[in-house]
Amino acid sequence: MKKYKNIIKLSNLLLDALNKLKTARLQKIQASLEDFSYKCSDATKDSHLFYAAVEKRWFSSAEKIRTRVNRNLSDFSYHLQRFKDLVSSDETKLPKLSCIFAELSQIDQDIGEYQFDLKEKTISVITEPITLDDIPLGPFEIKLFLNEINKLYTDSPYRVIALEPNPAGSDSCVTHPHVSSEKLCEGDGVVSIRKAIEQGRLCDFFTMIVNILQTYNPDSPYVSLDDWEGISCYDCGYTVSGDECYYCEYCDRDYCSNCSTYCQMCDTTVCLGCAYECPSCNEPVCQNCTTKCKECEEVFCKDCLTEEGLCQNCEENRKENQDEEQKEESTEPTASPAVQPDNVGKAIVHA
Ligand SMILES: [Zn+2]
Ligand SMILES: [Zn+2]
Ligand SMILES: [Zn+2]
Ligand SMILES: [Zn+2]
Ligand SMILES: [Zn+2]
Repeated sequence: MKKYKNIIKLSNLLLDALNKLKTARLQKIQASLEDFSYKCSDATKDSHLFYAAVEKRWFSSAEKIRTRVNRNLSDFSYHLQRFKDLVSSDETKLPKLSCIFAELSQIDQDIGEYQFDLKEKTISVITEPITLDDIPLGPFEIKLFLNEINKLYTDSPYRVIALEPNPAGSDSCVTHPHVSSEKLCEGDGVVSIRKAIEQGRLCDFFTMIVNILQTYNPDSPYVSLDDWEGISCYDCGYTVSGDECYYCEYCDRDYCSNCSTYCQMCDTTVCLGCAYECPSCNEPVCQNCTTKCKECEEVFCKDCLTEEGLCQNCEENRKENQDEEQKEESTEPTASPAVQPDNVGKAIVHA
């Protein structure tokens, strides 16, 4: 008995949502009606100028105005057609409460038990586990948010949630070739799915979504089933299989062989972005295997620095200086060190 009452409540919520959607549609017509009447006056706004030009026999002016009117009319007929399409498209009648109620029990019969949440205002259906081209994608929950039905023309009012997700290797948001971030790419089904929602034909709506989920359209997947287990290179986007993919621990991302390299010192895999080319030996190295020269502070691979931590240049300079110093020392007599008075440089401490 409780269940029956709740289904009546659910039907009422749905009817309410469809009412709001109808209002949104009428408001859209209202807005384009205003826009259209503006365009009407725009198309004929030159009539008094034309009249004056003809009266005064200003033929070249009249000719210019005629051309302009002609151009305006082409625009106008385009707007007229769009306006006609919009007005004529709205022949949707709101279903009766009893129809909605019947529609809900139809879901039970055709698809399986549906679930609903009166607080959250959602109704959902769970599919059988889906396998496409031998790739198991698990069951999906199709969840319709009654509160979002009125945004039908700008956003999708339902989500497709993977319950046992086996997402594409290259994009964890893609849980099905036609589902990304819980949104379904409806393909050719867009119009029929919209119509079903507008008319409150929920059983048709869920059936269409289930059918799309059970079929693979190789022309327009988010990620093709052929590449499902592959990983896409963060740099160039090329999809590679798991064992052809290289992980860079410095930036925590996967790369193809063209976009990664090895550190010449420690053999770690690094992406080209994180690898550092030593300016001395020109070999790629990882960040761990680089050090600054103590003298010039330029970064080199550890192999290119001396034990004292100097780069080749700085080491050569040091040797030259040493040689010169030695020469100077051998020619000049040693100067006696300057004697400093004892108290200089010491702070005077008061007791
Ligand atoms: Zn790459
Ligand atoms: Zn990296
Ligand atoms: Zn080096
Ligand atoms: Zn290294
Ligand atoms: Zn140096």
